[in-house]
Amino acid sequence: MAGAALPGRLTPPTTEEHAIDTGTPTAPRGGWRRATVREVRDPGGAVVLRLDVPDRVDHMPGQHYVVRLTADDGYTAARSYSVVSAPSDPLVELYVERLEDGEVSTFLADVVEPGDELEVRGPIGGWFAWDGETPVLAVGGGSGVAPLVSMLRHAHDLGRPELVCLVAAARTLAQTPYAEEISGGCQVVALSRETSPSGRAASRLSAADLAPLVEGRRTAFVCGSAAFAEAASQLLVSVGMPAGSIRVERFGPSG
Ligand SMILES: Cc1cc2nc3c(=O)[nH]c(=O)nc-3n(C[C@H](O)[C@H](O)[C@H](O)COP(=O)(O)OP(=O)(O)OC[C@H]3O[C@@H](n4cnc5c(N)ncnc54)[C@H](O)[C@@H]3O)c2cc1C
Repeated sequence: MAGAALPGRLTPPTTEEHAIDTGTPTAPRGGWRRATVREVRDPGGAVVLRLDVPDRVDHMPGQHYVVRLTADDGYTAARSYSVVSAPSDPLVELYVERLEDGEVSTFLADVVEPGDELEVRGPIGGWFAWDGETPVLAVGGGSGVAPLVSMLRHAHDLGRPELVCLVAAARTLAQTPYAEEISGGCQVVALSRETSPSGRAASRLSAADLAPLVEGRRTAFVCGSAAFAEAASQLLVSVGMPAGSIRVERFGPSG
């Protein structure tokens, strides 16, 4: 139960400002903001939070926010979550996979309700960020799909959906975040435990999935667990994507 580590409701943020160095001229320097949770959706095993962030600065698809929780006794825990929404969305959408023994993800999934306030800081990240112009191949494993969906949504907003080719790998369709958005065009859902809606037979992501998608795409974004990121990067190199063109975000223990 998340409340054991972070008892009670969240306390208001401090007024202390924490500058961030994102390493990119497009990302802002900023401090903690108090966001209001407008929507909470539970797709099962995860939660989608839609936040109203005051004085929000547009993010680049791929960037993330840090969410900081504070317990009544002053104990804090902060974790990074990728932005799923497009920059045009008035709310910041986060997809949080619920880890059974996770300190922050269980709190966000089990305790947070619409109307609650969360301390957030962002957007953060200069390397794993899409410029909205370069044709990209985006490969995500499990919750690693989150920042890639932001890229796909932005490409749709631009009227150029072909710019983002998203490959989502998961065990089952039910475990594929935003599966309903990942279809048509060059999108691929690669399921290891069941047949994909496209008719793809159950099997792990392979070079055969990626080979037809590489041509004309100068950059690849890979996101997921450390093991997935390593495997997907190797597959991309094996089908001709230069290693230096692969940008990787690993979801793991973070601060
Ligand atoms: C840049 C960045 C962006 C991220 N974006 C997202 C996102 O969009 N959605 C999302 O759900 N997560 C995302 N993460 C992961 C997230 O920051 C947390 O690590 C995750 O929610 C677990 O936090 P927790 O407090 O619940 O677990 P903890 O209490 O920190 O850890 C509980 C246990 O789970 C293990 N663990 C920690 N993180 C993970 C993980 N990601 N996968 C598997 N095991 C883990 C720990 O080693 C520990 O054994 C991102 C991480 C980074 C660095």
